[in-house]
Amino acid sequence: MSILKIVQYGDPILREKSKEVIKISKKIKTLINDMLETMYHSNGVGLAAPQVGESLRIFVIDVSDPSGPIDPMVFVNPKIIKKSGAINSYEGCLSFPKAYTVVRRYKNVMVKALDINGRPFVIEAKDGELLARAIQHEFDHLEGHMFIDHCRNKFVANEVLAKYNLPSVQEEYLLEEKELEDEIVAWEKEHPEEIEKFRKEIEELENSKE
Ligand SMILES: [Zn+2]
Repeated sequence: MSILKIVQYGDPILREKSKEVIKISKKIKTLINDMLETMYHSNGVGLAAPQVGESLRIFVIDVSDPSGPIDPMVFVNPKIIKKSGAINSYEGCLSFPKAYTVVRRYKNVMVKALDINGRPFVIEAKDGELLARAIQHEFDHLEGHMFIDHCRNKFVANEVLAKYNLPSVQEEYLLEEKELEDEIVAWEKEHPEEIEKFRKEIEELENSKE
């Protein structure tokens, strides 16, 4: 196994729509294992094939506690078959070193995919748990989308990107997501204490990075 080079934001491959995997060959299995090794090496929660320069519909995720045993999940040719609800998600990406911002996500998702042996499986992730957000984040990479396209405030996102010497948001890719935004705004109005808690969590995470 080997550690692969992670493509950084600005590379055009991150805007391509990835191709379906026709056969899970030995070469594909090696790529998947290398992606897992690269993800663990970088302390990431997920990694998609375009991020290592392969425009293929594959991503890997591990949302387990970093202090416990690993729990690698492999998704080949994934399809999101159900999505509902809306939440705030504070996200970063291995292709955007250190840059985090608040984005809109669905709360619940159901995804269908093949595992590393080509066996189909269905998985449901609920209540905005890390897995639900990670699946959406990684799936986006296969479509040529990135987390910043879902940002709730492009000015804040641009400030963060500039701080880490990354290119600004690409206006033409910004997603309006009016329904998600309206649902989040309505929820926030009813839960001011949760917003305060979320702000504090972000602040702590930001401070721990310094
Ligand atoms: Zn990413």
